[in-house]
Amino acid sequence: MPRPLTATIHLDSMAHNLARARACVPGARAWAVVKANAYGHGLERGMRAFADADGLALIEPDNALRLRELGWTKPILLLEGLFDAADAAMLAAHRIDSTVHTMEQIVLLEQAALAGPIDIHLKMNTGMNRLGFTPEAFATAYARLRAIAAVRDITLMTHFANADELEHPRLTIGEQLARFASGAAGLAGLRSLSNSGGVLHHDALAGRLTTDWIRPGIMLYGGTPGGKTAAEFGLLPTMTLASEIIGIQQIEAGDSVGYGSRFVADRAMRIGIVACGYADGYPRHAGPDTPVLVAGQRSTLVGRVSMDMLTVDLSAIPDACVGTPVVLWGAGLPIDEVASAAGTIGYELMCALAPRVRVLEGPLEHHG
Ligand SMILES: *Cc1c(COP(=O)(O)O)cnc(C)c1O
Repeated sequence: MPRPLTATIHLDSMAHNLARARACVPGARAWAVVKANAYGHGLERGMRAFADADGLALIEPDNALRLRELGWTKPILLLEGLFDAADAAMLAAHRIDSTVHTMEQIVLLEQAALAGPIDIHLKMNTGMNRLGFTPEAFATAYARLRAIAAVRDITLMTHFANADELEHPRLTIGEQLARFASGAAGLAGLRSLSNSGGVLHHDALAGRLTTDWIRPGIMLYGGTPGGKTAAEFGLLPTMTLASEIIGIQQIEAGDSVGYGSRFVADRAMRIGIVACGYADGYPRHAGPDTPVLVAGQRSTLVGRVSMDMLTVDLSAIPDACVGTPVVLWGAGLPIDEVASAAGTIGYELMCALAPRVRVLEGPLEHHG
């Protein structure tokens, strides 16, 4: 008998969410971002669910090759670009597009003497201060790339720090757009700007944000980068982490639960033991208010999350018994809500899904 813990991936919801992203920015081409094992959903599943995307974007060069082996024929983009000379040769050999964000990467491409053609996303740092050329250095980098015979299309790219919050007190999208416009002035090429935040707030930025390529990630997986909830944005959950109650304890007032005896009951309680712990990717920092669905009813955690188990309050769910289904996140329980109760974001929970969790595929309705 396998352990009852499963992560069901809803490919239909992933396809639905991609269609939502496209509808937010009509006419734009869409990179579906599948880095980090498609945010924990599986690279190959991402490829199938996002068959309608114009391209797949990711970080890992080995996984870019894997996508080609799996039969993806449309564009692939490396979001951190090439790391060494071998990557430069791979770009040309397998038609993989690369971000370029340093002069070192340009030198690698110059020295590789590739037959080409290769397409580049040239990245500008407009205030995120992570990757990219400053607006002042951008035209020089562009000219160096343009002079490389193998380089065909150059797309101009930047990344938003606060696309979820339209008027962020430190750095607004508007400021980043102004810096982008100044650095990119007069340079030919398509523009690639919006992550999920930019896509979801496209309407609110009407007329200010022009993007030829969008790069949605988290929204494709039914999470939001902030602002409204996923449901309010019309997004569907794509991963349901579900398990069962494998034990029950009846405790009295004054009894404690779990490691550190951190939870102490102030009344008689029924406690359910659920087969899911931090070694499965469930956040150990999840506090006592973290929601859990037991037989479709909301309850909360009690006590510390341990490696293989967590404990829930069954006081209001008298019918719950060994074998009762439990949803940790997904259908009926937004992952963002669980993440927020654990002091983190949905991104981290999805990406941390552990290899020992059995992964299934299925439509969302079966869980709803
Ligand atoms: C991860 C990533 C994205 C997607 O970001 P989300 O917030 O998940 O939509 C877009 N662009 C780049 C460069 C990225 O690294």
